[in-house]
Amino acid sequence: MNIAIYPGSFDPVTKGHLDILKNASEIFDKVIIAVAHNGAKKGFLPVEKRVELIKKSITGMNNVEVDAFEGLTIEYAKKNGAKVLIRGLRAVSDFEYEMQLSQTNSALCDEIKTVFLTTKPKYNFISSSTIKEILENGGDISKFVPDAVFEYLSKLSKRNM
Ligand code: ADP
Repeated sequence: MNIAIYPGSFDPVTKGHLDILKNASEIFDKVIIAVAHNGAKKGFLPVEKRVELIKKSITGMNNVEVDAFEGLTIEYAKKNGAKVLIRGLRAVSDFEYEMQLSQTNSALCDEIKTVFLTTKPKYNFISSSTIKEILENGGDISKFVPDAVFEYLSKLSKRNM
């Protein structure tokens, strides 16, 4: 079975992430979308909430599982029998960081390969950080995030007003 891990912050998950995930699920037998605990970066949403929102947003993707992990991504991949890491590329600005990350991972473990995917153009520009900015400034994020995320964040921002 060809298993791939799609690691990331997903803080929150967007339609861009879901498009990458859908493409990956059509290529691999199983895809695990895995929310990384990042000790250095204080998140916007707790990891458990991010996992819950992803679970609510992936109906119909039968070969996708959702999980969270701490530590090195390649160790997590090995533990799950995965040979592939999925990462998404938006603009050239992603390239340098993603290239460094994939080369570091292959220096740590050459058997695990990184596969880069892109989204449909209409999702290409979406990022979790711009969504947080739009939300903070009272803008409409409904086009950029799945319904479950929109509902949760709308309630959250009303509570904080
Ligand atoms: P990280 O903090 O690990 O970069 P993110 O949740 O921001 O986690 O992103 C996870 C992966 O998804 C990254 O490879 C990122 O480049 C990719 N990604 C995010 N949004 C998009 C998008 N709109 N189109 C293509 N790839 C994307």
